[in-house]
Amino acid sequence: MRLYVRPRLRRIGSRVLVRGWLAITIGSTIVSWRGLEPPELAHELAHVRQWRRYGRLGYVCRYAASSLRAWRAGGDWYRDNAFERAARDAGAALRVTER
Ligand SMILES: [Zn+2]
Repeated sequence: MRLYVRPRLRRIGSRVLVRGWLAITIGSTIVSWRGLEPPELAHELAHVRQWRRYGRLGYVCRYAASSLRAWRAGGDWYRDNAFERAARDAGAALRVTER
């Protein structure tokens, strides 16, 4: 796993990824525009596990399909994507155990 912090990507990421983005995981590489808090890192590590589970093509196809399903159901393609929900759960679980 590789983690890169690249502050200069903050603005461009909001244009090409998701507004208000913090980090993106591609395969086992995490890129963020600032250092990640433990729950945020747990979220991205959940994506690393998803990439490993499904492989590159499998992950990308499943992620896109999940976004389409969420959008067709009237939800948000990003927020309601099952991969994002699972990653948010991983981060939230860490927040609970930190206290
Ligand atoms: Zn995510």
